Amino acid sequence: MNAHTRPKVGIFGLTGCAGDQLQILNCEDHLLRLAAELDIVDWVMAKSENDHSCRLDIAFVEGVVATERDLATLRQVRARTRTLIAIGTCAVWGGLPAMRNDLPREVLKHEVYQDGADFLDTVEARPATDFVPVEYRLPGCPIERHEFLELVSALLAGSVPELRQVPVCWECKTSEQVCRVLYHHEVCCGAMTRGGCGARCPSHGVPCSGCRGPVEEPHYDANITMFAGRGISWKEIAARMQHFSAPVWMKLGLEREVDHDAE
Ligand code: SF4
Ligand code: SF4
Repeated sequence: MNAHTRPKVGIFGLTGCAGDQLQILNCEDHLLRLAAELDIVDWVMAKSENDHSCRLDIAFVEGVVATERDLATLRQVRARTRTLIAIGTCAVWGGLPAMRNDLPREVLKHEVYQDGADFLDTVEARPATDFVPVEYRLPGCPIERHEFLELVSALLAGSVPELRQVPVCWECKTSEQVCRVLYHHEVCCGAMTRGGCGARCPSHGVPCSGCRGPVEEPHYDANITMFAGRGISWKEIAARMQHFSAPVWMKLGLEREVDHDAE
């Protein structure tokens, strides 16, 4: 990237809570520097005048594809962007919106809107990364500001961003927290979850529910066996793990065990 040319940047949201875009706005002291170093040309959440068609050097996209319009937006962004980055667990893994993909859309729509849901064109919620190739993935629910800033700095320096690969357990152990599994017999997903949050939940006495998505080689079966070995019911294990890891959980085929447990 030419040091004298500010890269053209776009920031986009598909279906989601917009929490990742808010995290960018929350960069506070760093915002002026970001505004000076990046030419943010398309960001409807933060600007009233935007260029929706120019070529982009860098684009960030958050959220899941849950409507046909999401998919059209995502494809359009991909087509005009050199370096596309999926931000947030929804865009990278599906996150909370993908949690109930096991239920038909019609059932979900009725639960929320009763009979007034005809205007909705929702489809099964899936991560943006299922539909288009991306150069980088920055998970988090929401993303961590320091990881976002590190990634931007690396891109501006023309280097390859190095994203954290250690599990939450590593951060938890190195900050000397009491283990929620060993000492409290709780379902804590820290061993399967990618670190970067500084083990925020165990540091506050709460088990990790896996909001940053899985590490590269998560040992789901070993962890489930460990939880069950501590007397935790299959039903509780399933309830705790399905927040962010639902697709993997389903693949394990353990719903059968959960049914059995519930009998
Ligand atoms: S509390 Fe959770 S994150 Fe911390 S060491 Fe135990 S399993 Fe890992
Ligand atoms: S400890 Fe787990 S649930 Fe809590 S913020 Fe970190 S990854 Fe998310």
